[in-house]
Amino acid sequence: MTHAVDPAETLAGYEVWFLTGSQALYGEETLRQVEEQSRAVHAELAGALPVRLVWKPVLKDADGIRRALIEASADDRVIGVTTWMHTFSPAKMWINGLQALTKPLLHLHTQANVTLPWADIDFDFMNLNQAAHGDREFGYALARLGVRHATAVGHVSDERVQQRVANWTRAAAGAAAVRALKLTRFGDNMRYVAVTEGDKTEAEIELGVQVNTWAVNELAAAVDAASADTAAVDALVAEYERDYDVDPSLRSDGERHGALRDGAAIEIGLRTLLADNDSAAFTTNFEDLGSLKQLPGLAVQRLMAEGYGFGAEGDWKTAVLVRAMNVAGAGLPGGASLMEDYTYDLTPGAEKILGAHMLEVSPTLTATTPTLEIHPLGIGGKDDPVRLVFTADPGEAVVVALSDTRDGFRLTANVVDVVAPTEALPKLPVGRAVWEPRPSFPVAAEAWLTAGAAHHTVMTTAVGLQVVEDFATMVGTEFLVIDEHTTERGFRDELRLQQAWHRLDRGF
Ligand code: MN
Repeated sequence: MTHAVDPAETLAGYEVWFLTGSQALYGEETLRQVEEQSRAVHAELAGALPVRLVWKPVLKDADGIRRALIEASADDRVIGVTTWMHTFSPAKMWINGLQALTKPLLHLHTQANVTLPWADIDFDFMNLNQAAHGDREFGYALARLGVRHATAVGHVSDERVQQRVANWTRAAAGAAAVRALKLTRFGDNMRYVAVTEGDKTEAEIELGVQVNTWAVNELAAAVDAASADTAAVDALVAEYERDYDVDPSLRSDGERHGALRDGAAIEIGLRTLLADNDSAAFTTNFEDLGSLKQLPGLAVQRLMAEGYGFGAEGDWKTAVLVRAMNVAGAGLPGGASLMEDYTYDLTPGAEKILGAHMLEVSPTLTATTPTLEIHPLGIGGKDDPVRLVFTADPGEAVVVALSDTRDGFRLTANVVDVVAPTEALPKLPVGRAVWEPRPSFPVAAEAWLTAGAAHHTVMTTAVGLQVVEDFATMVGTEFLVIDEHTTERGFRDELRLQQAWHRLDRGF
C-alpha cells in the first residue's frame, strides 16, 4: 500500500464515522424518529468538515456498539468517530466497545432542535430529546474508562460547533498521517546536538511513525542519475522559471545556470528515493552530504510546500510535526514549515524573534512569489546552494516543538503573531519569519526554556492552537501551551503537573 503525499489527497482518502446512541427500549416509532433526526444532524455537520463524515445506523445494544467500534478501529480509512447519545443509551452498553476502540473520539453533545417549542412540549417530546442527560451518562463512561477524547457542545448549525468539529477532524487527519508515516533519514543527527535526538522505537509505539535511515550516498547516486536525464532537468528548471522570480544569473543564459540544474537534479533524486520508500517525510544533515554538490535547499523548500515533512540536521521529530501540520492544514490558506528561533531584536517592550534556517523554510508561509537565488553558505564546505527567498506573511501562527523526555514525548506550543520585519533585510538571502510571541517575549521565552522545548519547531499558519491540542491528546504526549493566558508561575506548575500526570498515565 502506498500513501498519498499531497495533503488534499490524503484527506480525501479519510473518513470519520458518525455514531448515534440510543436503546431498544423506546420502540420502533421513537427509534424511527431518532434515525430521521440523526440523519438530519449528520447532513448538516458533514457539509462543514474537511473529511467525509459517514452516517452509521443508530446503535441500540452492546453487541452492535462493540461491532461498530471494532470495525472503525480496523478500517484504515477511518481516522476517528463522533458519538452522540440522541436519547438515553445506558453507558454500560458502551464499555466493551470503547475498550476496543483504537481511533480518536469526539463526543458530540448536541440535540436535534435549536429552540424548545415551549408551548407544545409534551412527554413524547421529552422522551425523544434526551441528549442533555443521555450524553452525561456517556461522559461518565468516557471519564471512568479514561478514554482520551474531545468534546463539542452546541447545535450543529452553530458555526462554533462546526469549527470545533472541523478542528478535531484536522487533528485526527494529522495523527492518522503520522501513524501511516514512513520517515526517511539521510544520515544521522548533527554531531553533539541533544534535542534532535530521541527514541525512535518509542516514537513508533506512541505516534506510529516508522523512522529509518538511508545512506546519503544512495541519495547521491539517485541525484547523479537524475542529472544525466537532461530532459527531466530542463522541465523542472522551466517550472522554476514559471513559479518563481529567478535571479538572472541562474536563468538558462546566466553564468550560474549550472548550479540551478544541480539543484533540480537534487530535487528529482530526492523525489525518486522518497517515492521508492513510500515516504512523506525526511531529514538531511549538512555534515553528511556524501557526494551531493549542494546542501539541499530549494528542493527541501518545494517538497515541504507540497506536503512532505522535513527536519534539518537529522531532526526527525520536527519532520513528523511538519508532516502532521501539512496534512491538518490541507486546503486552508497558509502552510507549515520547519522553523528555528534564530536571533532576537531585544528592544525592551518591542522584542521580536527572527526565525529562519540555513535554507529550509517552506514558501507556503507567504502568498507572495519567492525569489530564487544563489549565495554562499559559510557551513558545510559544498558548492553555493540555490534557495527560495521570501518573508512570511503577517498573521497569527503557532510554533510547536517535540522533545523526548525519556518518559515519552513533550509537545510545546506557542501562539505567536508574525509581523513585518522592522526594516528590510536586503543582505539576508533566506526564507524567514519575524514574530512576537504571546503573551510577551520574556514570559514566552522563559516558559519555552523551562519546558526544555526544542530550537527547531514547525510553524503553522494554516491551523490554530486547538488543532495542535487535539493532536496532542490523540497521540498522548505531554502538552504545554504558551499563549495570551500564560504566566511564569502558572506555567511552572503546569509543567510539573504534566510531568507527573504523564508518568502516572503511562503506568509502570
Ligand atoms: Mn537547525
